[in-house]
Formats: sequence, C-alpha cells, structure tokens
Amino acid sequence: MTYAIPPAPVTSLPITGSDQRFPVRRVYCVGRNYVEHAKEMGFTGREAPFFFLKPADAVVACARGASVDIAYPSLTKDFHHEVELVVAIGTGGTNIAAADAAKHIFGYAVGLDMTRRDLQGESKKTGRPWEIGKAVDQSAPVGPITPIAQTGEIKSGTINLTVNGKTTQSSDMDKLIWSVNEIIEHLSDAWELQPGDLIMTGTPEGVAAVVKGDVMVASCAGVEAITVKVV
Ligand code: MN
Repeated sequence: MTYAIPPAPVTSLPITGSDQRFPVRRVYCVGRNYVEHAKEMGFTGREAPFFFLKPADAVVACARGASVDIAYPSLTKDFHHEVELVVAIGTGGTNIAAADAAKHIFGYAVGLDMTRRDLQGESKKTGRPWEIGKAVDQSAPVGPITPIAQTGEIKSGTINLTVNGKTTQSSDMDKLIWSVNEIIEHLSDAWELQPGDLIMTGTPEGVAAVVKGDVMVASCAGVEAITVKVV
C-alpha cells in the first residue's frame, strides 16, 4: 500500500527525562474552568463542563529552555493568550470515574490556548461553531510532558503567564472549577479517550491580547515553563 500524497507527520512532544516523544492524537479543551475567568467573559456560577477541540497539528512543541515562534494569525485584531495546565492521557477509556482518573494520566505540561477572541465572540453572538476562533494554526504551544510518576497528581500550585516580563495571568490550579479528575470523568462520558490525547484544562483570569514581537513565558508549578514569541 502506498499513499497518494505524503501523510501528515505525527505531532509529538518531548518528555522530561526521556529521549522518547509523546505522540499527540487529539486536543480537548475545557471552556470557562476558573471562576474569575468566567466572570471576565461575562458568565457566573458553576455550569456543567463543556468542551471544544483543536486539531492535533495546531500543537507547537516547545523544547526545554528554548523559545519557539508562532505566527500572528490572519483575520484577527484581538489575538489572546490563555495559559493552561495540559494533561496527557496515557491509557484510554470510556466512563472513567474521577476516582480512577489518575491511572489514565501519562503526565502534565503547560500550554497556551491561543484564541482569535474577536472571531470567537462573533461565533458566540451568531450561534456559530468556535473553530474559527479556537482551532487556529499554531494556536497550541505546549511544553515538555513531565510524567505523573515525577509530579504526582497535580491539584494545586501556581499557574502564571508573563508578557514581555510583566505578569498578566496569575492564579492557583486549586481554583479549577472542575478538577482534572472530574474533567476526565466528564470527557470520557462523551468520547472514548485514547493514549495520546491532550486536555487543556482551562485558563484563569487575565487573558489579554498579544501583538507581533511579544514574548510570553507560561508556567505551571511542577512542569517545565515555555517561552513563546509572536512573529
Ligand atoms: Mn482555554
């Protein structure tokens, strides 16, 4: 068997302390999962978790210690950063109970859910899908995955983003409305999770626009920080 055109390469991420890489299958994202961010977006209260996806090839692998470039995307005048804890699934399943969820986690990383906010806002107003705002090329820079064997379950710790050295987002992962384990429970009711899936768990308050030349440093306690430049 041969392919008529070359198949797309597998997106993969480095793994802390290993020469092996983590192949990415899908990227699930959780909407509005910190109270203060829900408020800044005009929402209140604890709603059921909801999800959207980014294509796997939107992931930009960030090597340890290096800065990576992402291109300022077309069509937008309001390109926002969202720093998020990323969970990497090592063992798939359906109907996973929150109490069993940690067994399915390969590790954790920090990532950015970059968003064409003006187009996402338009989608919300018109009841259209979010892809034009969220499933943007190069919209998911993600750092090296640190195995859960090294981190233990991440349930708290600082989540932080600076732009050109100035802090714009700073919170604690214990403020997640739906915990990582609860997210896995809900997600696996809706889809069969598979090894290689990533979950972006939501962003705290302080989302803001970046412009060409801005340098973002994103960090979550327990995993390697990433540096991303908008070009
Ligand atoms: Mn997000």
